[in-house]
Amino acid sequence: MGKFKEKIVLVTGGARGIGFAICEKFIQEEATVIFTDIDSSSGDKANQKLGSSSIFIQQDVCNENEWQDVMLNIKKNHGDLSILVNNAGIASDGSRLEDCSIEEWRRVLSVDLDSVFLGTKYGIQNMKEKGGSIVNISSIMGIVGWPGSGPYNSAKAGVRMITKVAALECAESGYNIRVNSVHPGFTDTPLVKNAFEETIKKGDSLFQSTEEAYAAVEIMQPLGNRLGKPSEIADAVIFLASTNSSFITGTELVVDGGYTAK
Ligand code: NAD
Repeated sequence: MGKFKEKIVLVTGGARGIGFAICEKFIQEEATVIFTDIDSSSGDKANQKLGSSSIFIQQDVCNENEWQDVMLNIKKNHGDLSILVNNAGIASDGSRLEDCSIEEWRRVLSVDLDSVFLGTKYGIQNMKEKGGSIVNISSIMGIVGWPGSGPYNSAKAGVRMITKVAALECAESGYNIRVNSVHPGFTDTPLVKNAFEETIKKGDSLFQSTEEAYAAVEIMQPLGNRLGKPSEIADAVIFLASTNSSFITGTELVVDGGYTAK
């Protein structure tokens, strides 16, 4: 407890799923947590659940002006940012590359990769005087391929690489900012449930029902034949944000129950 006392933390996409679990863990460690989300109604509800140490700001992470506004707001009202978690993300619509529209490609790359570029850019500008830690949420899908997920896989591979470049640039510039990525495997959140439901509805799935899809994915997980819990991903973020990882930068921490070890 108290690991992040008096620290200001920014988490994007914090209204639900992994982002919400990350906010909860930082609050347990006594941080002041500012979280953003495009969905203001879920953001307000999450803010109530998180209590008095959280602040919700509506933000579309694809929009550069909104990043500038969020950073100015934090500086003016709360002080220096110490930790940024670029978490907001969406799944792609299941279409294979040969059928994927340029609109779908751009939609996914914009939310999943442009956002991390913008967050990293403004995060470095904000933290370079005093130092800090940036954690980017990639995926195992940034390391291995998955048919029907080309835009998502490509964006998440981009997140993996932008993390390494940012880590090296910060080190070379003498900024005390570490930049790392976390790569969750299948984790039990609305993103996965919605993706299963949508592909089944479109007839693009091998499965007839979401229950069947969950069961098939669960048996692919070596550790416990289950999906990961959002809190298990949040634990990895807490480690990379804390001084317990003071000599770690540019690394990729996979949290997938052994899925990519096979
Ligand atoms: P989720 O859908 O449950 O939550 C994502 C949140 O991001 C939502 O609250 C949503 O409103 C918000 N968001 C979406 N677009 C946004 C935008 N343009 N601007 C601001 N906020 C926006 O998803 P999750 O499973 O919690 O995923 C969180 C992160 O973890 C994502 O980057 C995702 O790709 C990654 N991830 C998830 C899994 C998984 O299995 N759940 C696996 C690997 C990586």
